[in-house]
Amino acid sequence: MKLSDMALKIRPSTTLSLSAEANRRKAEGVDVINFSAGEPDFNTPENIKEAAIRAINENFTKYTPYEGIYDLRKAVAEELSNDGLEYEPEDIVISNGSKHALKNAFSAIIDPGDEVIILAPYWNSYVDIVNMVYGVPVIVQTRKENLFKVSVDQLEEAFTPKTKALIINSPNNPTGAVYSEDELRKIADFAVEKDIYVISDEIYKRLIYSRKLRHTSIASLGKEIKERTIVIDGFSKSFSMTGWRVGYSASNRDIAQAIANIQSNSTSNVNSVAQMAALEALRGDKSEVELMLKEFQHRRDFIAQRISDIPLLSSILPKGAFYLFVDVSKLLGHEVKGVMLNDSTDAARVLLDHYNVAVVPSDAFGVKNYIRISYATSMRDIVEGANRIEKFVKRNF
Ligand code: PMP
Ligand code: GLU
Repeated sequence: MKLSDMALKIRPSTTLSLSAEANRRKAEGVDVINFSAGEPDFNTPENIKEAAIRAINENFTKYTPYEGIYDLRKAVAEELSNDGLEYEPEDIVISNGSKHALKNAFSAIIDPGDEVIILAPYWNSYVDIVNMVYGVPVIVQTRKENLFKVSVDQLEEAFTPKTKALIINSPNNPTGAVYSEDELRKIADFAVEKDIYVISDEIYKRLIYSRKLRHTSIASLGKEIKERTIVIDGFSKSFSMTGWRVGYSASNRDIAQAIANIQSNSTSNVNSVAQMAALEALRGDKSEVELMLKEFQHRRDFIAQRISDIPLLSSILPKGAFYLFVDVSKLLGHEVKGVMLNDSTDAARVLLDHYNVAVVPSDAFGVKNYIRISYATSMRDIVEGANRIEKFVKRNF
């Protein structure tokens, strides 16, 4: 019996698969440095964990409203007002992580054959999520010279009568690029003129390291753009809550209703206890969160400097998120340890098999010649991982 054409198209998430492989090797006793998953190494802050324990002890363990508990939706709406966004709790749907919020959002707006513009380098799951809802991913390659940001000319070129939506992810995974208000305004004008939706994935919005840049949500740039934008965010990254699976969408009321309807017939509500934890994350003390943000900046500065000191490697200093996107093109076309390095996947394979460092090859992000290093890991691992990468380059090239 044949599987559906859709299922046959879907690949396992490269980031999650690579991380699982690194963890498997670790469990077997291999000292692997895991630079693959974008998963903070910090524990979830104490006050958040305590809120969850309290919720269990108070028997907050039944179904909640499928769109999420009202207080959490209210807290999300309040927190979005810091970005100049006016939403009512009714415009917010709490989902099982921002990945699920993205899937719901696309399910709500995409018909079979609708095109979705995705900007490469892109976070790997976008393409598969669009495929899951029978949309057609249209990939636009951003340029390194443009700091991996798209221009409106490029968007014009990609636009067709079938274009239904565009995904913006700022700060960006995997490049760390952050769009300025000016740049977003041009994209917003394009989206309004062409009458398309914008999915704005803002999951790294609290992780910006440049004093000159601050996070701007494209939805904050006027009524018309807000009406057609679905803002996506979640608790995984900034609150170190990857396993809790809480994310959300904010959108106009019709879309929110459609998303809620979809969710009511698929997953129902997010785990009740996790919702109480997320409420504490937004409303409670943020001192541990602020410490994490400072530490990420410190790690970014360290790893970026170490990699730029290694001959043949180069990268652009990331402005946000927690990834370093490293150009390895000068290593390709050489044989190392009996393996011909034809692409960055080969380079990543040799790094893992012979130097015990797990990185993500950029083919997963729709571009060639790069590897992604996640620095959401401990300083000890970052120092050791950088040493091993240096050894790999200096001994073989
Ligand atoms: N968007 C981006 C850009 C990501 O890097 C990730 C990875 N965690 C997600 C969404 C999904 O995160 P989660 O489902 O854990 O909220
Ligand atoms: N988003 C993270 C990453 O890019 C976590 C893994 C995933 O969900 O893809 O590594």
